Amino acid sequence: RAEALGKNTYHIYSPTISINSFKHYELERDLRKSIENNELILYFQPRVETSTGRIVGAEALIRWQHPVWGLVSPGEFIPIAEESGFINEISNWVLENVCKTIAKWKSEKLHVVPISINVTSQRFLKSDWLPVLLNSLNTYDIDPSLLEFEITETTLLHYEKEVEFAFQYLKELGVKLAFDDFGTGYSSLTHLKDFSIDTIKIDKSFIQRISEPNIEMIIKSLIFMGKGLEMTVVAEGVETIEQFEFLRNQECSEIQGYLFSEPVPVEKLEVMLKRVILKPAHFSGHVAMED
Ligand code: C2E
Ligand code: MG
Ligand code: MG
Ligand code: MG
Repeated sequence: RAEALGKNTYHIYSPTISINSFKHYELERDLRKSIENNELILYFQPRVETSTGRIVGAEALIRWQHPVWGLVSPGEFIPIAEESGFINEISNWVLENVCKTIAKWKSEKLHVVPISINVTSQRFLKSDWLPVLLNSLNTYDIDPSLLEFEITETTLLHYEKEVEFAFQYLKELGVKLAFDDFGTGYSSLTHLKDFSIDTIKIDKSFIQRISEPNIEMIIKSLIFMGKGLEMTVVAEGVETIEQFEFLRNQECSEIQGYLFSEPVPVEKLEVMLKRVILKPAHFSGHVAMED
C-alpha cells in the first residue's frame, strides 16, 4: 500500500546507530549505580623522566567495568557523566581513591610518586569541590604537592572565572596544575601566564605526526617555550623509539605512552615502582626494567 511504502522510506535501516543509542541509554541509566556497585576502576600510566628512564609520576585514568558492556572507556562515559552532572560524584571518587592509594604506598614504605588526576572544569562550578579536596587530603594525610590536576584548555574556555578562582586556591594549597592535550585548544598562551601552570602535556596528535617537518617545528617550539617558562613538559602518546629519541634530543622533560607502558592496574604500577629504571618496551618486547 502507498501509505506503508511512504512510511518505509522514513525508516533507514541502520543497526549501528540504534546499537549506539541503546548503549548510550543504558550507560546513562546505569552510571549512577556504578560507584555503589564497585564498577569503577582506576588505571595508572607511568610518567617517565626522559633523561633517566625513571618513573617520576603516574596519571590516574578511570575505567568502568559494566556488567553487560564490559570495560567502558572514559572517552565514552565521561561525556555522559558531564551531561547528567554525575561527573561530580565521579571526580570525588577518583580523588578519594588516588589519596587512598598514596596513603597505602606511604604506609607500606613503597616509593611514592605524584599522581595526576583529570579534572573537568565543570567540577569547579559546584562549591563543594574545595571542602571535598581538603577532607581527602586530611583524611589520608597527603602532601598536596603529590597531586596534580590536569585540565584541558577547551573546557577551561567555558568557565574561565570559576576556574581561575579554583586555580588560585589550588596553587596556594600546593596542588600542581597541568594543561592536558596542550595545543589542541584555543586559549593556551594567555592562560599559561595567568594561571601559573606547572606542567604542559603536549597532545598525542602532535607526537603521532612528529616526522612531519611542520609538526616537528611545533613540538620543538612547545618544548622550548615550556622550559623557558620553567614548566615541566610532558609528551603524551609516545609509541615509537623514534619519537622517544627525538623527544630526548629536544630535552623534553617527561614522556608518557605505550612505548614504556600502557595504563595498568595499581598492582602492576607498584611492581614497576619497585624497580628503578624503565626501558622502552622495544628493547625486550615487554616492559623491561632494571633493578
Ligand atoms: P587524557 O587525559 O589525555 O589521557 C591520555 C589518553 O591517552 C588515555 O586514554 C591513555 O590511555 C591514552 N594513551 C596513553 N598512551 C598512549 C599511546 O601511546 N598511544 C595512544 N594512542 N594512546 C595513549 P583513556 O584512558 O581512554 O582516557 C581518555 C580521556 O578520558 C583522558 O584523556 C581524559 O581526558 C579522560 N579521563 C580519563 N580518566 C578520567 C577521570 O578520572 N576524570 C575525568 N574527568 N576524565 C578522565
Ligand atoms: Mg590527562
Ligand atoms: Mg591528554
Ligand atoms: Mg583528553
